[in-house]
Amino acid sequence: MKERSRQINRERLIETFQRLVSIDAPSFGEREMADALKAELTELGFTVTEDQAGERYGGTAGNVCGVRKGTISGPPLLFSAHMDTVEPAHGKRGVLGADDRITSEGKTVLGADCMSGTAAILEALREIKEEGKDCRDLEILFFIGEEKHLRGSEVFDYSHIQAEEAYILDLTGPVGTAAYQAPTLVNFQIEIHGRAAHAGLAPETGIHTIAIAARAVTQMQLGHVGDEMTVNIGAIHSGGTNSNIVPEFCRLVGEVRSYSHEQAMEQTRLIEEIFRKEAQEAGGTSRMDYQVLIRAYETPQDHGSVRRFRRACEELRLPFRLIKTFGGSDASNLFHHGVPGLVLASAMELVHSCQEYTSVPELVRLTEIVKWMVQDAE
Ligand SMILES: [Zn+2]
Repeated sequence: MKERSRQINRERLIETFQRLVSIDAPSFGEREMADALKAELTELGFTVTEDQAGERYGGTAGNVCGVRKGTISGPPLLFSAHMDTVEPAHGKRGVLGADDRITSEGKTVLGADCMSGTAAILEALREIKEEGKDCRDLEILFFIGEEKHLRGSEVFDYSHIQAEEAYILDLTGPVGTAAYQAPTLVNFQIEIHGRAAHAGLAPETGIHTIAIAARAVTQMQLGHVGDEMTVNIGAIHSGGTNSNIVPEFCRLVGEVRSYSHEQAMEQTRLIEEIFRKEAQEAGGTSRMDYQVLIRAYETPQDHGSVRRFRRACEELRLPFRLIKTFGGSDASNLFHHGVPGLVLASAMELVHSCQEYTSVPELVRLTEIVKWMVQDAE
C-alpha cells in the first residue's frame, strides 16, 4: 500500500464549509443541498441515488446515498451526516474571524451542525483522489429531516448497504471524542378530562383537571431518575379557559429518555398510571399518547468502528475519548438497521443557537481523521 497522506488543504476546506452553510436547508426543504451534495459525490466518482423520503414527509428532497468502490479490500466504511439545519437558518453565512472560528452573522445558526462533518468528508475524499491514494470502498449517506427526530434515516432502505461500521459526523465536543451509546426517547401527551363548574357559585360540582395534573406531577420523579434515565414535563399546553371556571380540560406534554429501552417504556407506563389513578380518584379521566422517537443503542466498545477510530486518534495524536450521549442522531437508525458505529465529535459548538461556531483547526483535525480512516486497510 502507498503511504498514507495526511496533508489537508485548509483554504479549500474553509471554502467548502462556507459554500455549504450558505445553502438554505431547513428540515424537509433540503432540495438545494441535496443537489449540491449529489454533484460533489458524482464529481468524486460515486454512484449517487436519492430516495423518496422527501415525498413521504412533504419535503423537497430525499436521502442522498453515494457508493464507490475503492482499491483497498474489505467491507465498505459508511460515513454519514444530515443535510437539514434547525431554524433560524435563512440566508446564513459563515464568517471567518481572527480567532480561527467561523460563526454566523449573528441572526441565524451557522449550520456547522451538520456541515462541518459534511465538509470534512468531501474534502478528505477530494484530497485522496487528487493524490491518487488508495481508499476503502465507501458508502456515504446524507440524510434529510434529522432535526425532526431522524425522519430521513428512519425510512431509508438499508437493504443495499454493505458496511459493517458507521461513522456519523454529528456531535459536539473536541475532535477525538465519540459517542457509542444513546438513549430511547419517548415523547408523551396526557389529556385530563374533568367537569366545568362556576368557580364561585358551585365549585364543588366541578372536577378540577389542573388540580389532578398538579397532584400527578408532584408524584412523578422529574429530572434524573437514577444514572440512566431522565424524565420531564415540558409544558401544560392548555388547562381551563377562565378564572371563574373550574377547568374541565388539561393537556400536558413530556418526555422520558433512558439508555435502556425497556426502562423508558416502563417509566412511560408508570407515568400513565399515576395520571390515570389521580384522575379516577377525582372523578375524571386521563389518557396518554406516546411516540418512541429514538430507540436506544449501544455499540460494543470492542466493535471495529471503535478500534479503527481509536487507532486514527492515536496515529494523529488526538485525545481519544468514548462517551455516552443523551442526544439523538441518525446513529440510532443505522444501528437498528444493522450498521453499528460511532457518532464523532465534528467541530461544531453551541449548536442550535445563533452563537454556533466551528473552529478551523478542529475542522482540519476532523478531515484528517476521515482521511486517515478511509485509507485504513485493517
Ligand atoms: Zn446534527
